[in-house]
Amino acid sequence: MTETKGTGMMTDTSEWRSHHEAAILPALGRPQRLLVRGEGVRVWDEAGREYVDLLAGIAVNALGHAHSAVVGALTDQASTLGHISNFFASPPQIALAERVLALAQAPSGSSVYFSNSGAEANEAALKITRRTGRSKIVAVEGSFHGRTMGALALTAKAAYREPFDPGVPGVVHVPFGDEAALRAAVDADTAAVVLEPIQGESGVRRHPAGYMRAAREATDAVGALLVLDEVQTGIGRTGSWFAFQQSEIGEGITPDVVTLAKGLGGGMPIGATLTFGERITQLLQPGQHGSTFSGNPLATAVGLAVLTTVQEQELLAHAADLGARARSALAALPQITEVTGAGLLIGMELRDGNAKAVADAALEAGWIVNPVTPTRLRLAPPLIITDDQLLGFADALPGIIASAAHSGAGAEGAA
Ligand SMILES: *Cc1c(COP(=O)(O)O)cnc(C)c1O
Repeated sequence: MTETKGTGMMTDTSEWRSHHEAAILPALGRPQRLLVRGEGVRVWDEAGREYVDLLAGIAVNALGHAHSAVVGALTDQASTLGHISNFFASPPQIALAERVLALAQAPSGSSVYFSNSGAEANEAALKITRRTGRSKIVAVEGSFHGRTMGALALTAKAAYREPFDPGVPGVVHVPFGDEAALRAAVDADTAAVVLEPIQGESGVRRHPAGYMRAAREATDAVGALLVLDEVQTGIGRTGSWFAFQQSEIGEGITPDVVTLAKGLGGGMPIGATLTFGERITQLLQPGQHGSTFSGNPLATAVGLAVLTTVQEQELLAHAADLGARARSALAALPQITEVTGAGLLIGMELRDGNAKAVADAALEAGWIVNPVTPTRLRLAPPLIITDDQLLGFADALPGIIASAAHSGAGAEGAA
């Protein structure tokens, strides 16, 4: 039986495509399928085909699709108090801020600014850095920090930035993994170093040992801030609440500012900017920042439900444990030359390249994966994924790669 709920008569592929093309900004690129329903780790398209979702809306749906905790929190809050503006406070806004600060083990005097996306969380971080009286920012090649003008200036990829020049000035990108270059770039004019603890969009890449500590030392030496973008790595994705809390990733440092978004809302749009300690918290003065939707009761109520569920179901330990087993299963495949990441954020380098063709073949076989670079796949499944579902993909991957090689699909290259 074809599932058509919410899509009217659009059961025919060419029909939804033509409606999409006529109505949606083409800048977003060509969507792969029209999805109409999700449940747990699975989603269904308009033709009733089922997929195991190993990407979770890009590391967003921590609890999968249509989780009862999310649905319950959202419907309860929507029927209680939906939106109020920053002229008022609401219980879920305050409770979520307190919970996030506790999970971050942030010192007293720390605070949270809520927004609606990762880019916005980074915009708030940028404004905080400007209040140091300096404007130079050091970021890293390969980094992704979002697409709004300020966040875009931090984002390394020239193809994203250059069509919109002149951008926000003052950002210097240093080569990935080069500690000496990082130390040399941080000087008395530097307001901040901005880093992802693990780079997501460049293919799930970890900095070399000593790099995070070097970033902390270099910023401390000149009175600059260290901003960690945990938009993708935060909220259990890597097996801990924040990636920086794992000693082999964060190397024991305490950041000045941390940004969050993706996993925090379990699908509800929300971002958060955390200021660590009184001195950083006081940088933005009353009236200097805001957003109509900041701390929106619907988004914060769902965020609370996500955190509670991750905790109650012990999903951090599950992500760490299953992620490690999945990485070793994938690393054992001769078709894979390198497996990277932590917890359930996984990157893998394909021996024969052409990640786009493999992702297309995977989709045909009922698996959603992401060709994050032309030669690498990324997995970021819901944290609730079972052993069978994720390890089943490792079993299926050799066949998928073989069918990609035969079909010649994806010859146009990575999108
Ligand atoms: C996705 C992402 C962003 C941007 O988040 P949006 O919600 O798309 O604006 C910023 N930083 C990192 C590390 C991300 O992965």
